[in-house]
Amino acid sequence: AAKGAGKGHLVHYAGSMADAFASRAQLQQDLALAAASGQLEVHYQPTVQLERGHVRGYEALLRWRHPERGLVPPSEFVPIAEESGLIGELTTYVLHTATAQAARWSEEIGRSVSVAVNLSPVDLAGADIVSRVTTALAAAGLPAHQLTLEITEGVLVHDLRAVAATLTELRSLGLRVAIDDFGTGYSSLSYLRQLPVDVIKIDRSFVSDLDGAGTSAVLVSSIVELARSLGLDVVAEGVETGAQASTLRDLHCPHAQGYLYARPVPAAEARHALDALARVPGV
Ligand code: C2E
Ligand code: MG
Ligand code: MG
Ligand code: MG
Repeated sequence: AAKGAGKGHLVHYAGSMADAFASRAQLQQDLALAAASGQLEVHYQPTVQLERGHVRGYEALLRWRHPERGLVPPSEFVPIAEESGLIGELTTYVLHTATAQAARWSEEIGRSVSVAVNLSPVDLAGADIVSRVTTALAAAGLPAHQLTLEITEGVLVHDLRAVAATLTELRSLGLRVAIDDFGTGYSSLSYLRQLPVDVIKIDRSFVSDLDGAGTSAVLVSSIVELARSLGLDVVAEGVETGAQASTLRDLHCPHAQGYLYARPVPAAEARHALDALARVPGV
């Protein structure tokens, strides 16, 4: 970017860096107050069974409605929360909100509705995650098997044995553990070997590539096969087109999530997908 740029350009650049730091500090301050001032919301995106298209559960995705900036995406505020120590509070909020919502939906439609909550590596490294999850399940009255916790390869920067022990303890409650964004990191396979998990979520970069002539179909097929041999469930993330869904069905991928089915929406809107589920016999 510096190519051919004069002094003025550099000054401008330095200025915007300073702005970025200032706004980051401001965002951090605002975030500290967000939970208490009702600016946090949980949105829900369904995961569907590919063969028949019915809803299998929902992923809870956190939203921050900033009074001046509007919706701030998690890609922006989650890292800030992780660095500033606020992430634990946000996770607790999502855990309580999402488990309570799943319990309410289950009661409303007379079938068990599952929910998935994203954990930060920071949460997993903390000492109290098991009791926080236990408390949320108890408060919501949700059976543990209706909760999935999604983790990312970011957990690898922490003591792997400690993380594995924590996951084992969490699974012994009866809940499921999913590896999110599978295939994007440097060591996805060693991760599978060392961490106790139940579900693989295939990263959306593989799915969006399925339309092309590349190797993604072979990779997705191999991941599905690998999961089957290990007895793991699979969800393809970021399915946007009917063609992708059809390829995934051909590759025997059992579950999918993406804009093709529904975007993440507030609970009241997400409820519609369940009305359809209530009409499917024998699910
Ligand atoms: P993720 O857990 O992999 O969630 C999936 C992301 O992909 C969501 O973005 C979702 O809106 C988006 N998505 C779903 N279907 C499609 C599709 O068909 N096309 C495209 N282009 N995108 C799709 P979102 O909600 O912005 O969240 C981004 C990431 O932020 C999440 O990725 C997760 O890592 C993190 N995140 C969100 N909520 C939480 C939370 O409560 N706690 C923590 N620790 N992280 C969260
Ligand atoms: Mg996720
Ligand atoms: Mg993901
Ligand atoms: Mg992701």
